[in-house]
Amino acid sequence: MHAYPHEFSGGMRQRAMIAMALACEPKILIADEPTTALDVTIQAQILELLVSMRDRIGMGVLLVTHDLGVVAQVCDRVVVMYAGQVVERADAGPLFERPRMPYTEGLLSAMPQLGSREGRLASIPGRTPEPWNMPVGCRFHPRCPYTEPKCTEGEIPLLDVGSGRDARCVRTDELELRGVQS
Ligand code: SF4
Repeated sequence: MHAYPHEFSGGMRQRAMIAMALACEPKILIADEPTTALDVTIQAQILELLVSMRDRIGMGVLLVTHDLGVVAQVCDRVVVMYAGQVVERADAGPLFERPRMPYTEGLLSAMPQLGSREGRLASIPGRTPEPWNMPVGCRFHPRCPYTEPKCTEGEIPLLDVGSGRDARCVRTDELELRGVQS
């Protein structure tokens, strides 16, 4: 109470911000990387607090994160974005079990798995395109292992693939993409 913000560590400032956001019991909380600067113990406490408040006061939580472990732990529905576009939308369980878009498969394969010590962690080759130089057709095609000529023939729409899911991929029905075991 008697310190200036610049005297706090990054993690302390982040916790103060989270406390300020939750104090008025909002109807919806937009949390952009809320646990990034925190160690795993504090991260677990913050996530537990968010989940308990969500359930207790019926607060909606829109969580923006690159941490798929956090997503698996707390999210009901997931929207995956790539190069400024929604590329997949699904309930969390089915998305982790069987992704329908190759970028999601790449993200899931880059997740460290408990008990797996073999080889190097997978990564997606290449880089995200610059906003002023987007690839023609599917924005992911220069990095996608399944690219075909039809992937570069114009804008790829977000397709309804059934069961409340959408995927931005022209090959989504042909591909058997790998998810992660729960
Ligand atoms: S549309 Fe083609 S390039 Fe894009 S994700 Fe699907 S298979 Fe890969």
